Parts: sequence; structure tokens; C-alpha cells
Amino acid sequence: MTSELAGSQIIIEIVYLIASALFIFSLKWMSSPTTARHGIWAGEVGMLLAIGGTLLRYGIVDYRLIAIALVLGTIIGIPLGRVQMTAVPQRTALSHAFGALCVTLVGSAEFYLRSPDISRFMMSVLSIEVILGGLTVTGSLMAAGKLQEILPQRPLTYKGQNFVNFLLLAVAVAIAVFLVLHPGTRSLFPFMILIALAFGVLLIIPIGGADMPTVISLLNGYAGLSAAAMGFVLDSKLLIIAGALDGSSGLILSIIMSKAMNRSFTNVLFGAFGQVQAAAAAGEEARPVRSATAEEAAAILSAANKVIIVPGYGMAVAQAQHKVRELYDALTKRGVEVRFAIHPVAGRMPGHMNVLLAEADIPYDRLVEMDEINGDFPQTDVALVIGANDVTNPAARTDAASPIYGMPILDVDKAHTVMVIKRSMNPGFAGIDNPLYYLDNNLMLFGDAKVFVGSIVRELSGGHG
Ligand code: NDP
Repeated sequence: MTSELAGSQIIIEIVYLIASALFIFSLKWMSSPTTARHGIWAGEVGMLLAIGGTLLRYGIVDYRLIAIALVLGTIIGIPLGRVQMTAVPQRTALSHAFGALCVTLVGSAEFYLRSPDISRFMMSVLSIEVILGGLTVTGSLMAAGKLQEILPQRPLTYKGQNFVNFLLLAVAVAIAVFLVLHPGTRSLFPFMILIALAFGVLLIIPIGGADMPTVISLLNGYAGLSAAAMGFVLDSKLLIIAGALDGSSGLILSIIMSKAMNRSFTNVLFGAFGQVQAAAAAGEEARPVRSATAEEAAAILSAANKVIIVPGYGMAVAQAQHKVRELYDALTKRGVEVRFAIHPVAGRMPGHMNVLLAEADIPYDRLVEMDEINGDFPQTDVALVIGANDVTNPAARTDAASPIYGMPILDVDKAHTVMVIKRSMNPGFAGIDNPLYYLDNNLMLFGDAKVFVGSIVRELSGGHG
């Protein structure tokens, strides 16, 4: 290597080191709302440096194809970055599919370039890369399709399904083992990829739409691990670090989400959850509930000392966060103590509520996690639920037959008065009835979250809001 080449190699290594450090800081900062913006910046700058450093590599002899790929990526990426907040889970799934496709293609290219001179270690890593990559491509596309409702949300199951799936995976692993021992058997390689692609589809078919965000986190984990494997194949420390960070954070997030829903991984992956919910919803009969107007709600709120607002998916759909901020201001001005109770899986993605409330500039110290605030509901005058449903369902505590039994919930029913803003008696994501609505201390405030909260604010400010 000439001294010029050695010099540029050192620069590349330093750039990669800075990028890796930025990825680590990015994850660290994103774990708190106060530093999350820095986290996004660190991630973006890290990625820019990683791409820049890679473009400096001396092995690149022609930049034309890379330029075309960059333009194509930008054309696809810009609209993906502008989707509604409620569509972020399926958008994330698409990103995983693209990442995994890249990993699978690179893995295939490396195999055909190197075969038959591939060490056993390298062939093992290559197999992990393309099997995980392949199943993540189709699995993520299926998950995105289910969330976007292009594909049926309900689980599609048949007898012996899990056995068939395991058998398929076992065949892919058997081919991988054979290739490790005989890396010159080039004709077998495409079968391993095809089986991984088919496995991705079959793995997702029996999982209900309700579990898709957890599955997406899990696929995030797989995509990260396959990228880390690619790092070994390409001898790139940056890829190993970034892939390991991505893989472990995806797996940790899916564990957190499963815990918040009191579900085990096996239950999420093989439990066909959505089917149970649909049956439970169909069996419910109409029961009387008490409702109130915006004027009555405003009177109850202004007479309160302590109010806890519980936001959920409906607040996101209605984009009511700015009106909620106005309500917070109006009540605080009257001396009412207002806090927000954040359930870990309120909305459709982890942190959904934090992001929306931060967007409306609601002070972070007013947002309290479920475990911290649950004990305060009995001393709370009003729990105001805005577009949340499942995360407040007391059946999770009391009804062993409920599909969400055991899921930790916000104990809003223990407040002196509960008021729930939603448009109808329709169920939430889990598809089950909510006994909260029939309790004596509960009032339904029927309407769109943004419109209803706006009406309450107007009432509080004497009709001039
Ligand atoms: P839910 O989906 O349980 O309920 C949302 C409620 O909002 C609905 O009942 C709906 O009732 C109401 N709503 C919808 N649009 C509006 C509107 N424009 N104005 C007022 N209300 C509206 O939401 P939660 O946040 O309580 O619970 C989240 C669910 O998602 C849980 O089941 C959770 O397990 C699941 N989930 C969440 C994940 C996450 O990471 N956050 C991941 C995986 C699953 P109506 O139609 O009557 O208005």
C-alpha cells in the first residue's frame, strides 16, 4: 500500500470511529425526550459520515452506479420521511425491508464472488446474513401490508402451521450447514434464500395486525443482526457496531413492548392474538352509559384540584395535541394541577404520546410514566382520557378471560371521576369492549378529540377560546 493509500485508510477509519461513537450517543440521547432531538441529529450526522467514509474507499473505481443509487434512494426516501405520524410503524417496516434487501443482495454477491474459497467461519456468517436478511425482507413487507390494511389484519392459521414453519427454517439451516462444509455447491445457495423469503411470509401470516408493531421491532432486531453479520463478511467494524446496536435495540424494544402488553414472545409470534379479540368483541351486548356535554365537562374540570390526562391513539388520529396544550394552559391558569399519564404502548408505536405532546410543547416534567403515576389515581379528581381505550381497560386487571388479561393498564377507574373522549362505543386496537365505560364514576364525551377538547377550552375561557 502506498503512503497515500495508507493515509486515506487512516482517515476512513477515523471517520468510521466518529460515526460509531455518534450512533452510540444517538441511542443514548433518544432515550429521553429532553435529549431526543440531539439523538436524531447525532444519528443523521453519523450516517452521513459513514456514507462519506465509504465513498472514500480506494476500492471504488466507478462512481456512476453509486450516484444513480443515491438519486434513487433519495427519491424513495423523501416521501417516506413525510408520512403521517400514525403511519410510522408501517414506514419503519418498509425501511427494514429495504435494509434487509440490501444485506441479502450484498451477501449473495459476496458468495458468488468468493465461492468456493470461503472459510467455514465466513460461510457461517454469510448464511446467517442472508437467512436473517431474506426473512426480514418478506416479513417486513407483510407487516407493512397488514398495518396499512392492504393485507388482511386477522391471523391466517391452519393446522400444523408452526410445524411447517419450523420445518422450512430447519431446511434453510440444513442447507447453510451443507454450504459451510461444501462452499463450492453454488447451486444450493439460491434455495437457501428462497426458503428464507418464504419463511418471512409464513412467519407473519398467522400474526394479527394488533401485534405488528412488536413484530416490527423484532424484525428490526433481525435486520440489525444480519447487518452485523454483513460487517464480518465485508470486514467493516462500523457495520458490525451499527448492526449490533440496531439488532440489540430492536430486540430490547420488542421485549419492553411485550412486557407492557403482558405477552411472551412465543405468544406474540405463535398466539394468533387478533382472532381471539374479534370473537370477544362480537359477543358483547349494548349496555347503557352516561354521557356529558363539553359545557358539563368544563365545569367538572374547573372544579377539580388534580387532573390526570391520559392520551391515546385517538389523540394522534385527531391531531388534538395542540388543543390539549390549550386545555393544559387553561386549567393550569385556574390553579388546577394537570399531569399526563403515559402508557408504554399507548398509540401505535413506543414513545408515540411523548413525541406528540413534545410537539405541542407540553413541559416534559408533566409527562409521568405509568408505574410512577398509577398510585395517584385514587387521589385524583378527574382522569380525562383522550382517545385511549385498551390502555385504560380494567378487564386487564379483573377478567381472567379477557385477551388482554394481565396487561398493565393505567388505573383511571380509580379516579373520583373519569371522562372519556372518543367518537363512539367502538373498541380500540385489541378489538374488545371496555367495562370502564359502564362504571358509575365514568362519563363519555362523544366526539372527535380535537373538536371536543377545543369545545372544552372555549367553555373554560367563557366561550371566547
Ligand atoms: P386504542 O387503539 O385502544 O384506542 C384508541 C381509541 O381512540 C379508539 O377506541 C377510538 O374510539 C378512539 N379514536 C379514534 N379516532 C379518534 C378521534 N378522531 N377522536 C377521538 N377518539 C378517537 O388506543 P390506546 O392508545 O389506548 O392503546 C394502544 C393499543 O395499541 C393497545 O392495544 C396496544 O397494545 C396496541 N399496540 C401499541 C403499540 C405501541 O407501541 N404503542 C404496539 C403494539 C400494539 P372511537 O372509534 O370510538 O373514536
